[in-house]
Amino acid sequence: MTHIEDLAPYGCFEKTVLYLPDRYISFRHDPARTLAVGWLGDDCPHSGPVDGGLLDAVRELMRHQSIALTRGFHTCEICGPVAWADMQEGEAKVLAGEFGNGELRVPGEGGVVYAAPVMLWHYLSAHGYRPPSAFTAAAKEFVSSGRHRDMALLAPPDAVVQLHG
Ligand SMILES: [Zn+2]
Repeated sequence: MTHIEDLAPYGCFEKTVLYLPDRYISFRHDPARTLAVGWLGDDCPHSGPVDGGLLDAVRELMRHQSIALTRGFHTCEICGPVAWADMQEGEAKVLAGEFGNGELRVPGEGGVVYAAPVMLWHYLSAHGYRPPSAFTAAAKEFVSSGRHRDMALLAPPDAVVQLHG
């Protein structure tokens, strides 16, 4: 998966696409205010004890967010090559958090938005990855506020809304 330094401007895609049950919402995000977190590539630069509160928050984000989905899924380059039999189980492993598809968004202080891959869960739980403390605080605050349950709140007023079908 793409490696991006933590807190560097996120520019993987020009647009953010939110996949809601009945519609999708797309908008152009500002790369300068959209900061990368957890785009590790094949190396985990900061590790330490796992923050249980952050794990719970990321699980909650995964339950309620469906963003920037792609065909297929990501696997962990730190763990190394994945056996074909495991690839066949890809969908189940995405659901279990071992493989990732899509991204997570967490609003932070001063109008920034953190953009993390869904693989974040695996990096935290399997590799003890320690994200920037500002992200950890923002993720916990976002989830405890309950605002993460309404993904549409992430979209600006001029976002494009399209119904499915
Ligand atoms: Zn791994």
